[in-house]
Amino acid sequence: MDPLKHASVPLLAFLAISKSPSLASVAVLVFGAIFPDFDVLFEEHRGYFHSILFLIPLFAVSLYVQNIYLWLFVFGVGMHFFLDFFSGVIPFLYPVRKKGFEVKVSGIVIFESSPRINIKYEILVGYPTKSRGSYVGLSNESLAMALVALIALLFRLKFSSL
Ligand SMILES: [Zn+2]
Repeated sequence: MDPLKHASVPLLAFLAISKSPSLASVAVLVFGAIFPDFDVLFEEHRGYFHSILFLIPLFAVSLYVQNIYLWLFVFGVGMHFFLDFFSGVIPFLYPVRKKGFEVKVSGIVIFESSPRINIKYEILVGYPTKSRGSYVGLSNESLAMALVALIALLFRLKFSSL
């Protein structure tokens, strides 16, 4: 998943639940949401910063420190994990264990006759990929999503009392 999607989805979620978002809070959230992909600077992408061995201590520190900006950073990192789990392998115990998992949803069926939803999915196993030293891959849909998030942000900053 590219950085625009990683930034846009948590931003839209935050804008939906925040009473009065500030530019500083949004900046910290977005930084947290894209931070795990800085592990492209290491040997393998989806490595150190895509591991619960990184997330759990970070989460524990945020509980201890109780700072809203650290919580937003952790929320961004957590959202990154969640989104990546649907778009590739997450090696939860990296570097202790490089084997990771990914969920592939192959279909969602909503039955008209009864209020029932059937989700077809499978859990795939894989490994982190070698880092190519760069992280690019923006698409038109990513740009559109980022523009929607930006418009929502500008609207919320302008009319924060709504
Ligand atoms: Zn990632």
